Amino acid sequence: MSILDKFQNFIMEKFMGGLFERENSLSEKEDFVKFTKDSPARYEIMLEGSKYGKRSGFGPRVVPMMVSVIRNQNKVINSLKNNPEEPRTTITDEELADLVKLANKKGAGIVGYAQIPEHLVFENKAVLSTNVIVLGFEMDKEKIDTAPSVKCLHEVLKTYDDLGIVSNKIAAFLRKKGFAAHAGHPLMGAALYPPMAQLAGLASLGYSGIMISPEFGPRFRLTAVYTSIENLPKTEKDEHAWVREYCKQCKKCIKECPGGAILDEPVLHESGQITHVENTKCMPHFMNEYGCSVCIKVCPFNYTSYEQIKEGFLKKSKKS
Ligand code: SF4
Ligand code: SF4
Repeated sequence: MSILDKFQNFIMEKFMGGLFERENSLSEKEDFVKFTKDSPARYEIMLEGSKYGKRSGFGPRVVPMMVSVIRNQNKVINSLKNNPEEPRTTITDEELADLVKLANKKGAGIVGYAQIPEHLVFENKAVLSTNVIVLGFEMDKEKIDTAPSVKCLHEVLKTYDDLGIVSNKIAAFLRKKGFAAHAGHPLMGAALYPPMAQLAGLASLGYSGIMISPEFGPRFRLTAVYTSIENLPKTEKDEHAWVREYCKQCKKCIKECPGGAILDEPVLHESGQITHVENTKCMPHFMNEYGCSVCIKVCPFNYTSYEQIKEGFLKKSKKS
């Protein structure tokens, strides 16, 4: 292991350890929504990664990004003390429009709303509320298309960092307006993001285990902001369910995955969760091949528009 890897491990264990304890202590707060017996355990990618080899591409250029990620993860917890004691629960249309405008201006091209079931909260974690604002941030196509590469890895990490920053900014915006807010972080979510995005009607879970949206295909990352707002315009519709039917016939990510990590048949658990990827097979490639991301690059939704694929798929389905 190189000196840089050792240094990064030291930084992560030192700062992440304390952070996890403070994060877990939220589940002792009376007014927070806690995990349930069906809650999944969170995969701690930032800590688990160090077990899988040389962490390629995580050179000196990555250090400022990781410092910013950890700073914003700490801010998620530290800023909770700024929540108003008696928060507002109703947002006006104008305020909501301003929120979306701010999110878009800061780079979140996808904004949606959902009410989440409590079992989506990770084991030992808690969230401020089941009312959620879901945010998605596009990753640059040209850079993703070079996967696996340093360029692609840096784009993924930059997106994680940018999303953590936006999430904290949205939480601060809400607090200023008198609402309570709990920012999520894409690398340290307190609850499972993909089902949230699905509940918000934003995207569907592809067989790669990655969400697929009309705007960006599989080329985006997610985070959330939990809030006291009760009247978020939630949707009942799931217009993207057809994507999973398409996946059943496509399976390109499964064939091209260098680790053989993507399951041919997804596993549906009793809790309702679905497993698509075996982490122990993905991680060696993720860590040693610049964050890999081949499954994102090869997905037809990365290079053909959602509408075009949908049209072709529906036509073909009608014929058969
Ligand atoms: S590559 Fe094919 S099977 Fe995999 S997520 Fe994309 S559309 Fe679905
Ligand atoms: S990141 Fe690479 S190894 Fe992991 S699932 Fe995707 S293609 Fe497979």
